[in-house]
Amino acid sequence: MTGNDPFQRQPLNQATPLVGYNTVTSDRALRSAIEAQADADARAMIDSLTELGATAGSAEVREHGMLANAHEPTLHTVDRFGSRVDEVEFHPSWHWMMRKGIGFGLAAHPWVSDELLPHVRRAAGYIAWTAMEPGHACPMTMTYAAVPALRADDALAKEWTDLLASTTYDFGLRAPHTKSGMLAGMGMTEKQGGSDVRTNVTTAQPQNDGSYLLRGHKWFTSAPMNDLFLVLAQTGGGLSCFVLPRVCPDGSRNAVQIVRLKDKLGNRSNASSELELHDAYAVRLGDEGAGVRTIIEMVAATRLDCVLGSTALMRRAVAEATWHTSQRSAFGGPLIDKPAMRNVLADLALESEAATMLGLRLARCVESPHDEHEVALRRMALPLSKFWVCKRAPMLCVEAMGCFGGNGYVEDSGMPLIYRESPLNSIWEGSGNVNALDVLRALTRQPEGLQAYADEVGRARGASRVLDDAADAIVREVRSIAGDPGSAEGAARRLASRMAVVLQASLLVRHSPEQVADAFVASRIGGDHGGVFGTLGAGADAAAIAARALPEV
Ligand SMILES: Cc1cc2nc3c(=O)[nH]c(=O)nc-3n(C[C@H](O)[C@H](O)[C@H](O)COP(=O)(O)OP(=O)(O)OC[C@H]3O[C@@H](n4cnc5c(N)ncnc54)[C@H](O)[C@@H]3O)c2cc1C
Repeated sequence: MTGNDPFQRQPLNQATPLVGYNTVTSDRALRSAIEAQADADARAMIDSLTELGATAGSAEVREHGMLANAHEPTLHTVDRFGSRVDEVEFHPSWHWMMRKGIGFGLAAHPWVSDELLPHVRRAAGYIAWTAMEPGHACPMTMTYAAVPALRADDALAKEWTDLLASTTYDFGLRAPHTKSGMLAGMGMTEKQGGSDVRTNVTTAQPQNDGSYLLRGHKWFTSAPMNDLFLVLAQTGGGLSCFVLPRVCPDGSRNAVQIVRLKDKLGNRSNASSELELHDAYAVRLGDEGAGVRTIIEMVAATRLDCVLGSTALMRRAVAEATWHTSQRSAFGGPLIDKPAMRNVLADLALESEAATMLGLRLARCVESPHDEHEVALRRMALPLSKFWVCKRAPMLCVEAMGCFGGNGYVEDSGMPLIYRESPLNSIWEGSGNVNALDVLRALTRQPEGLQAYADEVGRARGASRVLDDAADAIVREVRSIAGDPGSAEGAARRLASRMAVVLQASLLVRHSPEQVADAFVASRIGGDHGGVFGTLGAGADAAAIAARALPEV
């Protein structure tokens, strides 16, 4: 009998891996968020994501995700004859993930798609897909984000958009127009500064044919095998934005040298490089001196994906934790039924559902570029969401790992991969303080942003007195500092956090089951919370909330 086997060769009481489920259709919170944003089209949208969800929940994708991270990219600077090649070699599992992700439309496809609400669909797909192997999300994100920035120049947008929006993954450095799909990256960060790009020292010299030659370095350029990069460089007119292809129009390799790949905490499947530009060919995007204004569209779209990417990690962490605890018993019963564990799981579930609702709401804003409310809300809500959701992810991931006990600390559980990835979104594309300060900046420079925020939160008015009072208090506080933002810098994080939580609460009140909204408002706004996960008050229906988070396998 297995139970009498002292070596437990057929182990008792070990959970099975969470595979063979659908990360879209089995995820109640994600479905609610899709329903909230897609209204009558939600059913069709969920149907269109069913294959993605089934693939994401398969054992095959789990295996590819682990392999792509175990076999890290390798840099080849020169060939065997000593000529520069500056190529990065990836494991076949990386290419498999890229092919699938791009094929599911998670790169720039929504910009040319005639589907209904393509950005909401992509956002939901991104949440359901990327946590299985977060590294490959980076090139897909930058490709998605490059397209709105390219629109600063009609000719450049026309030249590149269709190739970037392709659902075909066509790897390798070849003449751009011989490829069936392309990927984009960005080069802003330099050695002397990443947040303050005004200090960039890379220069751009105009040439007679209208192009420029770029000379200098970039300190952090991810996915250097991508086909083109939006980079910043100094011109006579000031900091400007450029399109830098890896392969020149005549088919020759551009003078881009990869110095080194970064040895990173997580995100190890993806290559992040240090570059030198030795009079590299580039084309200006936007006016000279308008570099930040031009690339900001790429930054904004990337920040959306930071929110979605952190949300993806949270959703997977919660799914894994509820799954494991539903199968593992201690002290006479399943862990998920133990009141202390139930409280932890419910608290984690609230956090991830709030992030999911917020992420899809932000994606909905992208669908309506001519709607004043949506545009103003996006500007206001993006930095505060990026700040808050990306800060919450590492805390949630570590607590979810704890739900596994020792097994969660071991690589093949998948939890270390999620954990190591979790701080990244908070660091790149505007580290924490920078996003919090951007909230202040938006409040003072774009008063319509605060109005859009107040209107949006106001849509939940009347459902909760606690929430209504908190929303009023925020608007009062913001108005009091709006005239003097410099003096409020020290309060930037506090303000961004509170604005984010109130916005999340208003969305949950409108779109999630009552027990979820009530527990979120009581804990995050009413103060009935102990500061760590698992401290919901007695009024919270932890059993129902935890059960909602358990994937329907
Ligand atoms: C894995 C990874 C991939 C990356 N990929 C890319 C890429 O593809 N392209 C690219 O261009 N960059 C990339 N980056 C770089 C990233 O965007 C920068 O690291 C980031 O913008 C911060 O810049 P920095 O590292 O120079 O830090 P700094 O600018 O030196 O900031 C350090 C700290 O100071 C804080 N800070 C800055 N200003 C203020 C202020 N006024 N008040 C208070 N606090 C402040 C910041 O929030 C941060 O916490 C990547 C980074 C990582 C980790």
